[in-house]
Amino acid sequence: MASVRVRFAPSPTGMLHVGGARTALFNWLYARHTGGRFILRIEDTDRARSTDEAVAIIFDGLRWLGLDWDEGPGVGGSLGPYFQSQRTEIYAGYVDRLLSSGTAYEADGAIRFRMPKSPCIIRDLICGDVRFDRLEEPDIVIRRSDGSPVFHLVNVVDDIEMGITHVIRGEDHLSNTPKHMALFEALGAPIPQYAHIPLILNPNGSKMSKRDEGASIGEYIRSAFVPEAVRNYLCLLGWSPKDDREILPIDEVERLFDLGNVNRANARFDLRKLVWMNGQYLRALSPRAIRELAQPLLAAAGLADASADPAHTEAVIGLFREKLQRADELPGRAVYFFKDDYPVEPDAAARLADPANRENLRLLVPAFESLGEFTAAATEAAVRDLAAKSGQKAATFIHPCRAAVSGCTAGPSLFHMLEVLGRETTLIRLRSASA
Ligand code: GLU
Repeated sequence: MASVRVRFAPSPTGMLHVGGARTALFNWLYARHTGGRFILRIEDTDRARSTDEAVAIIFDGLRWLGLDWDEGPGVGGSLGPYFQSQRTEIYAGYVDRLLSSGTAYEADGAIRFRMPKSPCIIRDLICGDVRFDRLEEPDIVIRRSDGSPVFHLVNVVDDIEMGITHVIRGEDHLSNTPKHMALFEALGAPIPQYAHIPLILNPNGSKMSKRDEGASIGEYIRSAFVPEAVRNYLCLLGWSPKDDREILPIDEVERLFDLGNVNRANARFDLRKLVWMNGQYLRALSPRAIRELAQPLLAAAGLADASADPAHTEAVIGLFREKLQRADELPGRAVYFFKDDYPVEPDAAARLADPANRENLRLLVPAFESLGEFTAAATEAAVRDLAAKSGQKAATFIHPCRAAVSGCTAGPSLFHMLEVLGRETTLIRLRSASA
């Protein structure tokens, strides 16, 4: 059997949709599984929509997901570039061939292809056999009167030219396939194998559109999701390893993935599940890797720019890591580690307004000043000691102390937090809260 050649053929629209990314991923996985080649072809015949920026969004999304292409435009491709806008002459040649064989004709300045009025069966590797009667199928325009070639033509011509063996694309294209098969036949080219991937639905059962929450890959990039987590989640949108595992390293998916085990049923998109998965991946990263991921967000929030001490930022991340679902929670939750003018929650303010609490904060100051080392263990021992001597519970020191140093009523372990804040900052905040 000829070696596998698959392609992702997006039309630049200004975003990379979750559905498009999943189509790219399944093509890439199939190429990697079979040792074939994954081709990127930009279907940019609609020049009005195909801006450089719209094309860059596709490249950025694919690179971020780690879906490297073997042929196609840009750095990733050894062959190419495959921009349909640069292939006009190739399409013109094919139109001529159809005209001279009599399978196409001119009408009102446009060129139409004679659709065969006979049934066809798509032997789809995912959907099974799908029959189309094609009896009423009108002849399709393949070149408009302004000379521009139409999607059906360019899509088929490029699949022929690029030696595509398997067309793996969204189920929304299933109804185009009888037209495409007729074009392959008329051009005397072998028909590729088809694999139409089921749709992605929202949790409420509607078809996921580009406006739905979580639909844009760009959003995940900007929110500093872990790319491997998003990719892992996309793998499960219509495919599974047939056991209960969900967290799967990509090389294992490459090994197990096959078109025959893509589900026929529609997939459900569940943002909460994706966020959960992101949390699993995030917690497995080192504080350094999380810092690198979150750095742009911290900088944008005015918390830690490029000049910030990486060790401090990583120590802060270490405190939150266990409970973090997404890196973009960090700027909101860790403000008080980076700034002195952090927000104070009403419940924390109420604690700090209580005279008994303020008295306890005053007691903490000399106790912390006299410590040799300002470690979590040392501050904890000091608090327990003070509690014992004053006949109170440790909590009557811990709660106001947390409110005084963070403005919050909850957060990471207090004593570890103090260690990261450092003695100086801790004392300044205790003094000012108890003054
Ligand atoms: N440009 C088409 C799309 O973005 C490609 C369809 C195909 O994969 O054949 O939907």
